[in-house]
Amino acid sequence: MILILTPNIDTEGDAYKRLMAHLSRLQNIRVRVHREQGAEQCLTEVYLIGNTASLSLNEMKALPGVERAVRVSEEYRVIGRHKDDERATHFDYKGVRFGQDTLNVFAGLCAVDEARHVELMMRALRDYGQVCTRMGAYKPRTSPYTFQGHGKHCLPYVFELAGKYGIRVVAMEVTHESHIDEIRGALELTGSPTGVMLQIGTRNTQNFELLKIVGRQQEFPVLLKRGFGITLDESLNAAEYLASEGNRKVVFGLRGMKTSIGEPHRNFVDFAHVPVVKRLTRMPVCIDPSHSVGTRSRCPDGILDIMHAAAQGVVAGANMILVDFHPAPEHALVDGPQALLLEELPQFLEDVSVAREAYEKRVRLAERYDRSLVAA
Ligand code: PEP
Ligand code: MN
Repeated sequence: MILILTPNIDTEGDAYKRLMAHLSRLQNIRVRVHREQGAEQCLTEVYLIGNTASLSLNEMKALPGVERAVRVSEEYRVIGRHKDDERATHFDYKGVRFGQDTLNVFAGLCAVDEARHVELMMRALRDYGQVCTRMGAYKPRTSPYTFQGHGKHCLPYVFELAGKYGIRVVAMEVTHESHIDEIRGALELTGSPTGVMLQIGTRNTQNFELLKIVGRQQEFPVLLKRGFGITLDESLNAAEYLASEGNRKVVFGLRGMKTSIGEPHRNFVDFAHVPVVKRLTRMPVCIDPSHSVGTRSRCPDGILDIMHAAAQGVVAGANMILVDFHPAPEHALVDGPQALLLEELPQFLEDVSVAREAYEKRVRLAERYDRSLVAA
C-alpha cells in the first residue's frame, strides 16, 4: 500500500510525526519513505510493505497528513499502475519533460569516436531545434578486441560541445558504477553545461547490482533497455529495481529481441509492446529503431526500414526515440551500417512528426468513440 502525503508536508511537523508513530505500531508492516523534490513541490510517499491486506484503505486515508492511499498489486509496486493510482506518469529533467504524453528524439552517435564528429552532430541537432542526443562513451562490445569506447577521456569535450549547441540531455550508457562518478566528475569540471540520462544497455538489464547502484542516485534519470532475451515481465522488474532503490526517473526502452526469426533485421522489432508498457507501468517508453533494425535497407516505397520502424513505434504512442546518426558512417567505429546520415535528420524529424500527429488523431478518435459508446 502507498500513502501519498499532502504536498510539501513538514517532516518535522506534528501531523507527520503522529503518522509515523502510528505506522510504526502496525504489526508485520515495514515502512519506507520516498521523497521526490519537483520544480514546485516536494512529494512524499510512504510505502507499507508486508501484511497490508488487513489494513483498511479508508482508515489509512484518514490518518494525519495522508492525502490518498493506494492499494498496490504485488507486481511493479513503484513503477506500476494500480487501481485509483493517480501518481504522475512523467518527470522533468533539465527543463525537458519526459512522460507518457510527450515525445523526445535522442538522435546522435552510437559511439563517440572523434570530437569533430561530435561537433558536427551537435550542430545539426541545434539547427533542427533538438535539445537531446545520444553519445556512447562506454561501449559493451561482443569482442574484447574491438573499440570499447573512449570512456572518461571524451566526456569533457562531449559535455562542452553539448552545452555550446544547447543540448540539455545526453543519453549515455554506463556499464560500471565507476562510470557514474566519471560522468559526475566531468560535468563538475566543465561547469555542468548539459545533463545526462544514464543508459543501462540490454546486456545489463539484469545486472542487479548495477541497477541498485544506479537506482540509489537521484541526480540522473535512467533509460533502461529491455533485455534482448528475457520476458517483458523480467525487464519491467529490472525497472522496478531502479525505482525501489529510489530513482523514479526511469524511461523504459524497447530495442528489439534477439532471435533469428527477426532476420533480415538485426533484432525482432518489438514496438507492439509500447502500449503494453504504458498500460502496466507509469514509465515513458522509448524505442530504438537503430538497434532493432540494424541495417540501412530501404523499402521500394523509398523509406528506410529504420524510419518505418520508428514511425510504427511513434504511431503506437512511443515517448522517446533513441536513434543512431553519424556524419561519416564509413568511419564510425561502432554500428556504422545502421547509422542515418546528417542529411537525413530533417526527413527523419518530419517523418516522426507525421507519425506523432497520426497518433494524436488516433487518441482523439478513440475518445470520440468511447464517448459515443457511453452515450448509446
Ligand atoms: C546502444 O544503444 O548503444 C546499445 C548498445 O544498445 P543495446 O543495449 O540496446 O544493444
Ligand atoms: Mn550501437
